[in-house]
Amino acid sequence: MNITCEMAEDLLPLYLEGTCSADSRAALEAHLHICPTCREKRERMERNIPTLPKQAAGVVPLSDCARRIRRHRLRTAGLVLLLSVLSVCILTMCLLAVDDMRRQANPTVFPVEDGVWNLTAGELETSAETVGEYVLFTNSTRISVTAAEDSGYEGEILLWDAEENSAPILYGHVDERGNTCVFENLTSARYYRITCEGGANVSLTISEGRVVSFWHSLGTVVNTLLGR
Ligand SMILES: [Zn+2]
Repeated sequence: MNITCEMAEDLLPLYLEGTCSADSRAALEAHLHICPTCREKRERMERNIPTLPKQAAGVVPLSDCARRIRRHRLRTAGLVLLLSVLSVCILTMCLLAVDDMRRQANPTVFPVEDGVWNLTAGELETSAETVGEYVLFTNSTRISVTAAEDSGYEGEILLWDAEENSAPILYGHVDERGNTCVFENLTSARYYRITCEGGANVSLTISEGRVVSFWHSLGTVVNTLLGR
């Protein structure tokens, strides 16, 4: 069966998809055999590019090959380098986190003057009324104040520089929903004092609130690296 170029063009997509009938296929192939225009069309469609390149389809010049291989190698090398740098960064952060965790678990207890409560050596159990009498030292960056859970206490907790009584440095709040407040970004370079508004008989636990957890330490390391 002879078909026209228009018919061939209609059949080409089905032919390339392999969905046209055996008769149509035979007719199209017969037409392609004698019609260079339609052959070109078929090649264009096969390569899915608008124009047919000069050299025969499927043959890639050697220089192109070399360029592709070079590009591929460069990409691979770049990726390997990136992954290596990333691995080293992650490993370093993990090691720093483990080190921090170790320090949180076994903090160094520095000697302090008489009359100063060293929170690194042990937490302080006291009451809201008497807490203000203690001068506190920590070599952590945190002091945590926890009111007894069933006390129903609600009030402000004030953190003072022990040698500077004009105004509190930080304020905290405890209530039934959160019976702990944590003062952060503290330093071992000064002594602290804590006072408590109201709730005279409420028992309080003052500690460094150290968290011994890899993920917490990792968070600390990341924050330090980011300068937060
Ligand atoms: Zn044709």
